[in-house]
Amino acid sequence: MPASIAFLSVEGMVRGPLQSVAIVGGGPAGSALAVYLGRAGKKVVLFDKGNRPPIIVGESLVPATVPFLAELGIEDEVRAYSTFKEGATFVFNSEESLSFKFEEVRKARTKYSYNVPRDKLDASIAAMAEGSGAQILRESAGLVREAGSDRVVLDSETLARTEGFLGGPPDLIVDASGRRRLLPNLLELPFEAGPRKDTALFAHCEGVGQVIEGNVHTDTLSHGWSWRIPLPGKMSVGFVVNSEHLKTLGVSPEEQFDGILAREPVIKAWGAEPRRLTDVLKYTNYQLVSKRGFGEGWVLLGDSLGFVDPVFSSGLLLAFDGAKSLSEAILAGGDSRAMQRYEQRARRHIRTWQKTIDHFYNGRLFTLFKVGQVVRHTPVGRMLDFHFRRHLPRVFTGEASASRYSPALVDFMCRYALMENDPDLLAIH
Ligand SMILES: Cc1cc2nc3c(=O)[nH]c(=O)nc-3n(C[C@H](O)[C@H](O)[C@H](O)COP(=O)(O)OP(=O)(O)OC[C@H]3O[C@@H](n4cnc5c(N)ncnc54)[C@H](O)[C@@H]3O)c2cc1C
Repeated sequence: MPASIAFLSVEGMVRGPLQSVAIVGGGPAGSALAVYLGRAGKKVVLFDKGNRPPIIVGESLVPATVPFLAELGIEDEVRAYSTFKEGATFVFNSEESLSFKFEEVRKARTKYSYNVPRDKLDASIAAMAEGSGAQILRESAGLVREAGSDRVVLDSETLARTEGFLGGPPDLIVDASGRRRLLPNLLELPFEAGPRKDTALFAHCEGVGQVIEGNVHTDTLSHGWSWRIPLPGKMSVGFVVNSEHLKTLGVSPEEQFDGILAREPVIKAWGAEPRRLTDVLKYTNYQLVSKRGFGEGWVLLGDSLGFVDPVFSSGLLLAFDGAKSLSEAILAGGDSRAMQRYEQRARRHIRTWQKTIDHFYNGRLFTLFKVGQVVRHTPVGRMLDFHFRRHLPRVFTGEASASRYSPALVDFMCRYALMENDPDLLAIH
């Protein structure tokens, strides 16, 4: 069902004004929303079951998240426990790489970012939510579907825990349960799965070199790509690999991860001797976007609404931006029109990242960069370069990823401006 039909079918179903909100999930999306609503004087209960793995993905932040950290009042704290990041490096093979500094981006509002230990970041936002007046319950929340409808309520046990604070059922339930997708699964909401069927393996390591200190590094592998995210005293390493190929490397995630670490040619150039410090976490089927974003008394936020792909670190930005615009929709009364505005923005944002990410995988994006490096030395190229340097990189830093023009320009250029170059040479297989 197309999203526009979904909008129409729920017209008028979310009633306002909303005074009390139950948020399920205390990741960046849920906790940031709790801060915004708590500050505005809404009654907010946030549930987080808390049994997360010892290391959590989502450690590389794009520069456009920094204003959110500042607005949430946690940037100084985050800076103290994170790695300061000035740019990004892409390694295509043992000889070729491309680095850019965020400060080189013309008209950039934020010229730096951070790589964060996620457990600490989540704790900082949750503490701010508590300080803003939200009640944080470190427990699992349960939802039930009302028979014959798509209305969802807190189950009786969960509701009982909110009573002293909310004094009755919440006006709105926000599902920010991440990839657990509690509410979409309960309502069996239709979703769109992305084109990639990769597996991501993730661990913390030591002995891993860097091309430029602090930068987030993306390396092309023979059957996928990898990330290197420098954290204080260690390196987050992830391999996003073709799931069929992975089976040839062993059975356990550790065997597979160590197999890539030992055999992949581009990793030999990382220097030193990479050693794994933690167990390996495995992620599959993460490219998933729900076709409905809200309904009677409920709304989806963050990964629960949709996540595209790890490659350009868009997840936390989508979480913060979604939290901010959902808070605005709720404070504007929370009626269907306000919720539609929230959902439309979130979907546009997700779509932009999806297109840009598609052009990463099909090789067009970096072919375009290479063409640009040659063309910019011609007289016409110099003029165009001035324009592109403002728009193209700002899609990756996140500053223009929710806008219309810059992402459309990237898409257009990736499709029609590669001249005679074969994008397949830089495609991820
Ligand atoms: C392999 C991989 C790598 C990634 N790397 C990056 C990156 O480098 N940078 C980036 O920005 N993004 C990255 N992401 C995406 C990022 O991790 C997510 O987009 C982000 O964490 C989403 O935040 P969230 O608040 O929506 O969900 P989450 O962070 O998943 O938080 C959801 C919370 O809900 C809780 N919860 C679930 N069910 C219940 C329940 N019933 N009751 C109570 N609590 C519940 C969970 O315990 C959890 O704390 C990556 C994703 C993947 C898969």
